[in-house]
Amino acid sequence: MSEIPNRLWIANAWADARSGATFATTNPATGEVITRVAEARSEDVDLAVEAARAAMRDPAWRRMNPHTRAELLWKLADALEANADELAALETADNGKTYFESRKVDLPSVVENFRYFAGVADKVHGSTIPVAGPHLNYTLREPVGVIGIITPWNFPLSLAAWKVAPALATGNAVVLKPAEQTPLTALRLGELAAQVGFPAGVLNVVPGFGPTAGSALVRHPDVDAIAFTGSTEVGKTVMREAADTLKKVSLELGGKSPNIVFADADLKEAVKGASTGIFYGKGEVCAAGSRVLVERPVYDDFVAQFAARAQSMTVGDPMQKSTRLGAIVSAEQLERVMGYVESGKAEGARLVTGGERATVNGKGNFVKATVFADVTPEMRIAREEIFGPVAAVIPFEDVDDAVSIANRTIYGLAAGVWTRDVGKAHRVAQEIHAGTVWINTYNQYDSASPFGGYKQSGFGRDLGWEAALEKYTQVKSVWVALDR
Ligand code: ADP
Repeated sequence: MSEIPNRLWIANAWADARSGATFATTNPATGEVITRVAEARSEDVDLAVEAARAAMRDPAWRRMNPHTRAELLWKLADALEANADELAALETADNGKTYFESRKVDLPSVVENFRYFAGVADKVHGSTIPVAGPHLNYTLREPVGVIGIITPWNFPLSLAAWKVAPALATGNAVVLKPAEQTPLTALRLGELAAQVGFPAGVLNVVPGFGPTAGSALVRHPDVDAIAFTGSTEVGKTVMREAADTLKKVSLELGGKSPNIVFADADLKEAVKGASTGIFYGKGEVCAAGSRVLVERPVYDDFVAQFAARAQSMTVGDPMQKSTRLGAIVSAEQLERVMGYVESGKAEGARLVTGGERATVNGKGNFVKATVFADVTPEMRIAREEIFGPVAAVIPFEDVDDAVSIANRTIYGLAAGVWTRDVGKAHRVAQEIHAGTVWINTYNQYDSASPFGGYKQSGFGRDLGWEAALEKYTQVKSVWVALDR
């Protein structure tokens, strides 16, 4: 591996924080410090925003031919692909997810994401509009300007790519603030972007803490929009703090997604899907199917099979091929997850399997795949986002009951439906209040398909070209008199 990136990336150069401050980033599987990273505070955010603003004035970026912009994005995808082993290792060290997930799932999707948006870069155009009078009227789709991107720790590089790729494709400049737990791959992304030829200031990366660096970015008068992924609680703060400067805001927030298993489903597939739904990525997934709703006639059978599958999820060293559950991102998050396990027990849910910590060689933040059955919709484990490998299985009586329980949440990010009845599947898909519904599958993503929330899971969509235009461009209407 080349040197671990650990300074701020501003205007295509490494920089220390003005204050000289640094913070440790830790490997959650071992508890060891990977490196200390420069900690951006508001004065550093100012510099990064200035660099981005300068890039928006710089003809090298502002007037860049869209075909050239597309080519740069494609080259960045190639560079990410060429460095995929290193990036995946950095991601796993920082986040604790298995190397398999980083290398075989996250990295290929990041590469594909940049290629998809490379394809969008030269297809951003307005329209010609028939208007009354002797006038020609047409629209231009222009970049919004400087975009502040704030990302969480669960899919550090993927979620950065979801926002950085469309923002650059549409000609904006970016200041990216990665989560303090996982800043490393974002820094490498900045460096690789410079290496393939993006002009200085187009992509700046400022690791730091939310209430300091994050908040400074949100409040900055020279930042035109904030694209945020994180918790609902922080999303609300971001929206409040962005109001003073009337920034354009998009928020992809938490979830408590229902995975609904009907009695007529292929039970084996449903068990597999429910398991991937909650245990993939250690359950630290905003769209995790954390509420598993099961129709009465198959309830006992489902719980038995689901528990057996949970028991087969090997907890271990994320670098090992046999590992299915890596390390929980931080000691703090582990405490939170264990707090929910206690709450589930105290409220009378039946702990079927898991609910215990584990270690690897006596170290690390691990927890076993956990299944609670006989959960009622009122319990905290059925209402609050846990962000860990903890499933709450809830029985239901019929379609209406399933839909009613599924929608009984402040969230609306995703849902799963398992049934062989095609009419029922589509009907339920229409009745669920969520931004994504998966039928007889779970956790499918594609750069071309929009992803985002209903209700308190946020607004605005990532992925898909229409969402990119909506979020990262603004429309100018131009009038021309034809009679003079
Ligand atoms: P998670 O639950 O994934 O930790 P958070 O919402 O706490 O989600 O964090 C997501 C991102 O938001 C991180 O980059 C974090 O540093 C940032 N953040 C946290 N607090 C604030 C804040 N007050 N203003 C702006 N960004 C913040």
